[in-house]
Amino acid sequence: MGKVRFFNSVRVKFVLIFVLLIFISMQIISVYFVQKLEEQMISNFEKSVRERIGVLTYTVQGEITKERASQDPELETALNNVLSKNTSGDLNEIMVVDKNLIIIANPSEPNTIGKKSNDTRVKQAITSGTTDPDEIYDQETGKRNWVLAEPILQNNEIIGCLYVTSNIEKVYNQIDEINTIMKTGTVISLIVTAILGLIVSQMITRPISEMRKQAVAMSKGHYNRSARIFGNDEIGQLAMTFNSLSRKLQDAQSTTDAEKRKLASILSNMSDGVIATDRKGRVILINDPALKMLNVNSEDEVLSKPLTQLLDIEEEFSFEALLDRNESLILDYSEKGEKYFLRALFSAIQRETGFVNGLITVLHDITEQEKIEDDRKEFVANVSHELRTPLTTMRSYLEALSDGAMQNEALSNKFLTVVQDETERMIRMVNDLLNLSRMESGNSALSLQWTDFSRFLSKIIDRFELSIERGVTFKREIPSTSVFVEIDRDKIIQVVDNIISNALKYSPEGGQITFRLQVLEDTIEVSIRDQGMGMPKGNVEKIFNRFYRVDKARSRRLGGTGLGLAIAKEIITSHNGDIFARSIEGVGTTIIFSLPYENQTGDEWE
Ligand code: ATP
Ligand code: MG
Repeated sequence: MGKVRFFNSVRVKFVLIFVLLIFISMQIISVYFVQKLEEQMISNFEKSVRERIGVLTYTVQGEITKERASQDPELETALNNVLSKNTSGDLNEIMVVDKNLIIIANPSEPNTIGKKSNDTRVKQAITSGTTDPDEIYDQETGKRNWVLAEPILQNNEIIGCLYVTSNIEKVYNQIDEINTIMKTGTVISLIVTAILGLIVSQMITRPISEMRKQAVAMSKGHYNRSARIFGNDEIGQLAMTFNSLSRKLQDAQSTTDAEKRKLASILSNMSDGVIATDRKGRVILINDPALKMLNVNSEDEVLSKPLTQLLDIEEEFSFEALLDRNESLILDYSEKGEKYFLRALFSAIQRETGFVNGLITVLHDITEQEKIEDDRKEFVANVSHELRTPLTTMRSYLEALSDGAMQNEALSNKFLTVVQDETERMIRMVNDLLNLSRMESGNSALSLQWTDFSRFLSKIIDRFELSIERGVTFKREIPSTSVFVEIDRDKIIQVVDNIISNALKYSPEGGQITFRLQVLEDTIEVSIRDQGMGMPKGNVEKIFNRFYRVDKARSRRLGGTGLGLAIAKEIITSHNGDIFARSIEGVGTTIIFSLPYENQTGDEWE
């Protein structure tokens, strides 16, 4: 909004209206007034001239008809006397003509006496007895004269005529003067009106321009300004209303701002992703969690992009289909073994009229849930499989026994041993599972004891060394000093037992198993390395999963259930330690676990 140009402003319009009104009314008044005045003045003038002529005619008639002793020159002198007495004021020129049109008296031009008059008015007056007065414009003097030829009657007979020229210019001069007065009056009143108009319009436009300034400020978002109030008239009240309106607007604006900020902070702090679109399905808002979930770097990359394209579901769904969708949609973004699932919920933004304004999409990361669900399914499948195998074996042996193998003592003994072994294995497995679930649910508290780990480890190795078969040798790299750590001895024995028995199980004839205990900064690290068959790449991490066995058939033959390392991992984790494996196929396997260690110098005991 620019400034109002001067010639467009209300003030100028006001002044123009005032001036025009005054001008027109003055014009009408002066035209009417001057015209009437002119008529009046001219008729007054004529009347007074006629009156005087009437008197003069009478006198002249008396002089003409008077009995004289010696006639002519006396009449002329007498007439000249009468006439020159009256040639003053309005009457310029008076001349007397007899009935033969001969001029008998003319004081202003005595040499014309005795001559015949050529004037048509004179002729007409003498022949018909009447004439109309005439206005004659005198070229020489530039003045107007009023000319009249008045017949002189005696006993209703025309005996001559009186010719009079009167100075009507005087009247016109007066009228001109009056005109000039009117004009100056008009000009003065126009100037006064213009000034008054400016003042009045200022009174009216100042509050308006004040409000205009405020409206401009408001449109730029500045609300703290308020319009000045100049009075209690309509405009003043308008300004008051305007001010209260702007205060309300400010309140509303700040409420909206606060709401916006609230909404923005809710959106960015919630864990779910939120995407809003316009009614054409283009993204107009996306919060940070949604950006992260969809692996987008910045908002600008996706704003005004179609939602279906952003979610990568263009081929399956149209935007309209999403608007009507009531159930959630599971989006699978898994890639190369890396599972990633999102659940999307859609809800259309609708006006009361039912007109759809846009769509809100809420994204929820359900990868963990899906993984847990997968694990659960796998676990159930594994358990049932693991239980079914020994049970089938047992059933077939028991069937054989009841089918007659009982009679053969050697055979029945062998069969019963197998059944017993399988039962043992099942019991072991069920116990292992129970242990695992107990540890997982946190129900098995650790009974921690300060233990010298060098001695502790050596003892376990000693126990195994006594019962070594197949010529496997043990190599120890254990410090001779004491290394005290706080552990649940039984549980750690279980861990080491399993690792050593695995190493023995998978070691070749004459292989060597190396035990190493290292004290690091705040951990101790135990590694048990064998020279066995090792395992293919990609299996190394999985051996800590339940029931996972690299070679199922072989492992089962060796009595394994695939739970040993899963339990070991659970135990080490509950000690706040870490366990992992390194293996090269055909070269050997190293299982390494660490436990927290506080390096005490022992000073406080001395
Ligand atoms: P369990 O210990 O319950 O009797 P298991 O020994 O088969 O059964 P884990 O101790 O959990 O089960 O071991 C899992 C799998 O890891 C084994 O089946 C085996 O395939 C592989 N494995 C473990 N240790 C070694 C090793 N030292 N050398 C080669 N493979 C190994
Ligand atoms: Mg094992």
